[in-house]
Amino acid sequence: MYDLQKRRPTRQIHIGKVAIGGGAPISVQSMTNTKTTDTEATVAQIRALQAAGCDIVRLAVPDMEAARNLGNILRQVTVPLVADIHFDYKLALEAIHQGIHALRLNPGNIGGEEKVKAVVEAAKEAGIPIRIGVNAGSLDKKILKKYGGVTPEALVESAMEHVRILEALDFHDMKISLKAHDVPLTIAAYRLMSQTVDYPLHLGITEAGTVNTGIIKSAVGIGALLAEGIGDTFRISLTGDPVVEVRVANEILKSLGLKEYGPTLVACPTCGRTSIDLPAIAAQVEEKLRDIEEPIEVAVMGCVVNGPGEARGADVGIAGGNGEGLIFRKGEIVRKVPEADLVNELFQEIDQILEERKHA
Ligand code: SF4
Repeated sequence: MYDLQKRRPTRQIHIGKVAIGGGAPISVQSMTNTKTTDTEATVAQIRALQAAGCDIVRLAVPDMEAARNLGNILRQVTVPLVADIHFDYKLALEAIHQGIHALRLNPGNIGGEEKVKAVVEAAKEAGIPIRIGVNAGSLDKKILKKYGGVTPEALVESAMEHVRILEALDFHDMKISLKAHDVPLTIAAYRLMSQTVDYPLHLGITEAGTVNTGIIKSAVGIGALLAEGIGDTFRISLTGDPVVEVRVANEILKSLGLKEYGPTLVACPTCGRTSIDLPAIAAQVEEKLRDIEEPIEVAVMGCVVNGPGEARGADVGIAGGNGEGLIFRKGEIVRKVPEADLVNELFQEIDQILEERKHA
């Protein structure tokens, strides 16, 4: 595989135990959509996100009740948490007091120097970073006027205003995001930002949309940047269950060779040679693979003529025939089984491979 591991050099920051930038693995983030005041639901969702492969979880902190509840949540989870705060510096101070691992807050939007100073001092004392997050939808009028609308330069200038506020207070423990829903604009803005500062960059395409369009827009935008070595952490934003965001994020990293995480499923597109119900079998295999954390490449191929050869790189696979199919390993045929038993036999083989690895 061509190596995309070479990253743009950035400083390193830490969100709890997770390092970001400075050569650390690219981390996956997501955000809960439960009420932060609902401890039980929020803890359950954070655990589900972590189980799906999420490294860092962000929570909305819209009011003091939510801020005060952060400690109750933090005590019950092991994944680092970020408090998302807008406008009210007291919420930031309370989140820090509760033990939050990072803040997402724009210092220019919390009401003046003294308030920013109070938050920065508390963040320094606690040793936690701040994410500056600029959004195309909420750019300052003055900047919009200067650039005649939302441009990469406008997004970067807006971020730099916040960056300078923190730097003036000798605070450098930060990362930056520049989100827009327009993919080319987002790519251009992050490229420009990466030439401007060496703080780690948090990638995202905002309001990417429902699962179908959102996955494509995010994969194209974030994938393009990651392939250029830009981006140290990212979130896929999709409408709906955030666990899907994490699955998609990990698939993007796996497809770029930037992370070894869980199984990779290869399935042939089907053609006139296919004589098994390949889509149904592939869906069953995909579902069952969710229980496996180890990296393993599994192929589901439609025919015995080309299947094992086409999926030679896979650790294990099935190739359909007429009412039956083959189980193969690394392109070599292991045995022939009836179509109805293909999925079970495949998983027996997977279990065996994982067991063999333990003793290798
Ligand atoms: Fe067609 Fe066989 Fe290739 Fe699938 S593996 S696309 S069935 S030739």
